[in-house]
Amino acid sequence: MRERLVARMRGHGTTIFAEMSALADATGAINLGQGFPDTDGPEVVKQAAIEAIAAGRNQYPPGAGIPELRRAVAAHQERFYGLGFDPDTEVLVTAGATEGVAAALLALCEPGDEVVMFEPYYDAYAAVVALAGARRRVVPLRPPAFAFDPATLAAAIGERARVLVLNSPHNPTGKVFGDDELAEIARLCVRHDLVAVTDEVYEHLVFEGRHRPLATFPGMRDRTVTVSSAGKTFSLTGWKVGWVCASPPLLEAVRTVKQFLTYVNSAAYQAAIAVGLGLDDAYFTGVAADLCARRDRLCRGLAAAGLEVYVPQGTYFVTTDVGPLGVDDGAAFCRSLPERAGLVAVPMQVFHDDPDAGRTLVRWACCKRPQVLDEAAQRLARLAETVPG
Ligand code: PMP
Ligand code: GLN
Repeated sequence: MRERLVARMRGHGTTIFAEMSALADATGAINLGQGFPDTDGPEVVKQAAIEAIAAGRNQYPPGAGIPELRRAVAAHQERFYGLGFDPDTEVLVTAGATEGVAAALLALCEPGDEVVMFEPYYDAYAAVVALAGARRRVVPLRPPAFAFDPATLAAAIGERARVLVLNSPHNPTGKVFGDDELAEIARLCVRHDLVAVTDEVYEHLVFEGRHRPLATFPGMRDRTVTVSSAGKTFSLTGWKVGWVCASPPLLEAVRTVKQFLTYVNSAAYQAAIAVGLGLDDAYFTGVAADLCARRDRLCRGLAAAGLEVYVPQGTYFVTTDVGPLGVDDGAAFCRSLPERAGLVAVPMQVFHDDPDAGRTLVRWACCKRPQVLDEAAQRLARLAETVPG
């Protein structure tokens, strides 16, 4: 066994979502940990999957994904962002965004190369960079604004830097990178000849303004591997249909790796997501507005319970500081929370390299039914009342 590699994977906290969901299942606690909605996405998309199965679309699809989904992804990029991609040479279907990011990083990084990413980071990035034998260089995002210092970003781009990973809207903070920040990131990618791998799975879950892909910035179209997926946009996280858009040489490299990871995936679901991507604009704005109301509801409840709340601009997640409850270790707090309050949340220190950063930050998922969010907030308020001070 590759003991050291496996230990490093564990060290990346890769199992935190599974650990917390297992804890919720075992204790019957309300699960605001792992990010998944408690209601399914559009009926028309679910029906399309049922019909695709009934129609016999159950064997291996083409390696790049079924043509109708590749065309639907290209049309989506054009419709929402004015980005033109050739469905035959510039779009690849993957097993969720997870595989898209993994195949991209494995394709782009030589052992010893450096990958620049913002901290806190989504756990899979650190794990895949380690799998590739590459090294990560992190640039801090800290509350309350989760802004980065441009000089710190520039300093993190060393001789061996090859790739920059950008996740916006950002998990776990809920930050949506602003146009000025994106322009600065783009400028540095061009100047240092970096390829950007962008994880845009929350692209339609933005509460104010709009999502802007990094690929739309000057010089970025052909140096960006844009990754997204259907899970969040259509509240169907278990289907694992994702995609990658990139210039032909980059896409070819990603496809070459992807074919030996999963080869292909989700034939019938691919057909259904092609239908989903073609829904009218009202669907996409509606899903954001609906989630925004849930965000507000959860934020109010968390603030009323005495937590410091950093209101997110997008994503499924609300970041809080539980320090005001007298807590000095968010991980211990989260592990005791099911028993003490019938709740599950995610400690954010596992998404940091700096052991002191994020010690008292805790992430809560707002993609749940309103009554579930209210009940969670009430449980937390009762717990806070019992905490001395
Ligand atoms: N990236 C981010 C930032 C995520 O939060 C998630 C989790 N849903 C993923 C990627 C994984 O996406 P998928 O389920 O499409 O693999
Ligand atoms: N992206 C989801 C989250 O951040 C979880 C996905 C997973 O379990 N890997 O909670």
